[in-house]
Amino acid sequence: MSTAGSLVDSHGRVLRDLRVSLTDRCNFRCLYCLPETEAAQNFYRGRWARMPDSAPIVQQWTPRSNLLTFEEIERVVRIAIGLGIKKIRLTGGEPLLRQGAEHLVARIAKIPGVEDLAMTTNGFLFAEKARALREAGLHRISFSLDSLDRDNFKKITGRDGLAEVLESIRLAQELGFAPVKVNAVVIRGINDHEIESLAEFARERNLSLRFIEFMPLDSARAWLKEMVVSGADILQRLRARNELKPLASDNPSSTSKRWSFADGRGEIGIIAPVSEPFCGHCNRLRLTADGKVRTCLFSVTEHDLRSRLRAGASDAELNEWFHGVALQKEARHHIGEPEFVSPPRSMSCIGG
Ligand code: SAM
Ligand code: SF4
Repeated sequence: MSTAGSLVDSHGRVLRDLRVSLTDRCNFRCLYCLPETEAAQNFYRGRWARMPDSAPIVQQWTPRSNLLTFEEIERVVRIAIGLGIKKIRLTGGEPLLRQGAEHLVARIAKIPGVEDLAMTTNGFLFAEKARALREAGLHRISFSLDSLDRDNFKKITGRDGLAEVLESIRLAQELGFAPVKVNAVVIRGINDHEIESLAEFARERNLSLRFIEFMPLDSARAWLKEMVVSGADILQRLRARNELKPLASDNPSSTSKRWSFADGRGEIGIIAPVSEPFCGHCNRLRLTADGKVRTCLFSVTEHDLRSRLRAGASDAELNEWFHGVALQKEARHHIGEPEFVSPPRSMSCIGG
């Protein structure tokens, strides 16, 4: 693949993937992301000390006037595609809370050069939008599902929504989204007892399930390494029950290592950014709902695109600006190291 004109960072990585957050708002309160429920507080309280020097983030929603409009997002995507970006993932907060998200999907799907257009959602509102999203040209969909137990689901997400999410997953498969991916963040003492049942669910339903290590991106800044169940531990537990065959990576920049079950149904992925960082292959940029470009999930600085867009910058000026931003992409994250500094915003504001 030619890299001429592409965004290349100062470590030689060619950027191909843009994650676009549609909103920082959410209808869930996941205890690893926006832990604002009593259940989340009970889990964290007194269990482990807070991370030193990290005050909880006080969540303030972005005022609507600061959200990029669909026209602005479409323009940014068009420019990014011209700079070699191939994959667009719409996320949030909860992207389906953004009114008319399907209209944005339709606009982006029509941009020549968009090879992959995906969305990550908690699934609660997906069923009512599913057909419109499919018809608008959404290629792929990923759901978050951390528990198959109604009470535990509610404890984790703050919402009694398991039935709705399961129905959304079924409907996505019926509508032909393929593969349907499911993300599960594993937290010790919360849902690690469900690792095997989640894997079995993926096999039975022929889903691609990715277990994700808990990262220090929660708004409470209550993350501690002891809460992380490592990818290696998850794999060992699954191997004790199932014959798993390693799958070749479909993409060298993929964040997950993948395995298939012996009967060929379903697939398991393990995303282990904490215990096995993959920063050397990271080809991602993020655009927040309020128009800031982030070069890493853990960036402590953001690059203000919205003010440039609204000040009338030309496409040529924005192209040059993007090249300069790409050069500032961090070599790697420093999770677990003494110099680690939490990013100023939580995952829901950054766009996962
Ligand atoms: N609301 C949508 C959802 O939950 O799918 C999209 C946004 S959410 C921020 C995107 C992904 O980030 C989800 O799969 C979620 O599980 C993951 N996530 C959020 N906080 C995380 C954390 N602290 N560590 C690891 N993954 C996290
Ligand atoms: Fe949960 Fe996603 Fe909402 Fe965060 S943004 S609270 S992960 S549903």
